[in-house]
Amino acid sequence: MKALICGAGIAGLTLAWRLERAGWQVTIIERAPGPRNAGYMIDFYGSGYDVAELMGLLPQLQVIHHAIPELAYVDHNGRRVAGISYATFSQIQRGRLHNMMRGELEQVLLEALPPAVELRYGRSIEAVELHDSHVEVLLTDGVRERADLLVGADGIHSRVRTLVFGAEQRFMRDLGAHTAAYIFADPALRQQLEGRFKMISSPGREAGFYPLPNGQIAAFFVHRAASAVLPAVPGAELARVYSDLGWIVPEALRHCGESIYYDRVAQIEMPHWSQGRVVLVGDACQAVSLLAGQGASMAMGGAYVLAQMLAEHPTVEAGLAGYEARIKPAIRRKQAIGRRTASWIVPRHQWHIAARNRLLQLGQLPGLAWLLRPVLAAGSESVV
Ligand SMILES: Cc1cc2nc3c(=O)[nH]c(=O)nc-3n(C[C@H](O)[C@H](O)[C@H](O)COP(=O)(O)OP(=O)(O)OC[C@H]3O[C@@H](n4cnc5c(N)ncnc54)[C@H](O)[C@@H]3O)c2cc1C
Repeated sequence: MKALICGAGIAGLTLAWRLERAGWQVTIIERAPGPRNAGYMIDFYGSGYDVAELMGLLPQLQVIHHAIPELAYVDHNGRRVAGISYATFSQIQRGRLHNMMRGELEQVLLEALPPAVELRYGRSIEAVELHDSHVEVLLTDGVRERADLLVGADGIHSRVRTLVFGAEQRFMRDLGAHTAAYIFADPALRQQLEGRFKMISSPGREAGFYPLPNGQIAAFFVHRAASAVLPAVPGAELARVYSDLGWIVPEALRHCGESIYYDRVAQIEMPHWSQGRVVLVGDACQAVSLLAGQGASMAMGGAYVLAQMLAEHPTVEAGLAGYEARIKPAIRRKQAIGRRTASWIVPRHQWHIAARNRLLQLGQLPGLAWLLRPVLAAGSESVV
């Protein structure tokens, strides 16, 4: 059986690994010219952690883990006002938690790929033709491929989804916020982080800074935005929204360059995840958004279960149905939690910020970590 996977991201690489093990011939088509090693820091726990364990990758995750003692909220002068130790977060996840750059996780998955998996960078999918028992695909380099299964693992703005299921706006639920991330080097600013992940918030906007090795910082921004339309110049928009936030923010904004990631915060909801011999996996069909967290983890969970279901069922169609039935309820729950906890991540009002800080202070007291469980552990049960 031959599978063509569009997208060498978190879901695509996980799926390729597991399908190859089950005897599939796997080809991956990736639009980027090579591995994308930057991005943003992710908290990694739940389904993805379990999948990484099944794949034998926990030692590699330990290597890329960024040991950060605390997430600290600071005021506009940089004074700590609240925080949560990662030891508490890790304890809530029973010690099964890592922090890593998204690109570092992708690299670990890439290195784990068996040599038999073919990975072609710098191309995408131009057209898809569905047949009863196979699919014909025209690639952007003019090559035609025939596969028993085409998988759209090409992220929240999936090309496969648009070609086969319909326009993006039919499936995208806008959550009324924009997010941005970039990495920059400034050893002096990095010192002010004191090894911690520091965040600063004011009603409707939040900025966070992770210390990275070699004097680097991973900056992250999320703010409420009524329009779903993205700004023409993301850096200018960030400066407009955040430059009066105080602390190190104005200096950090001056480092914002070409390689900025900027997108709306959204979820993907679809009535069906497959059509004939085409199926979607990861953010393409189940994006939960950064407000819910665990998108990468759920992408790995969904990919692993998809391959498992294809192996366990007598037909591809039955496998695809089994996959959707197993994963979709957990995704729906996680998406609902993300919408409910939005005011925790991007507080609307000053009293939201005060309440969040108070809860964090209480959660740090001996025996009261359970107070944080509804926010830090909600929906993190494994799908694997
Ligand atoms: C700011 C931010 C913070 C986040 N924090 C966390 C967190 O703490 N924990 C967590 O678990 N998740 C987090 N996430 C979510 C997580 O990054 C995503 O859910 C996850 O990367 C989805 O994996 P994926 O493989 O489905 O898609 P992606 O990782 O987006 O990969 C898609 C791949 O497809 C490729 N592609 C796209 N279009 C095409 C095309 N037309 N043709 C060929 N290839 C294509 C892309 O280049 C990419 O390689 C965060 C996301 C953001 C934006």
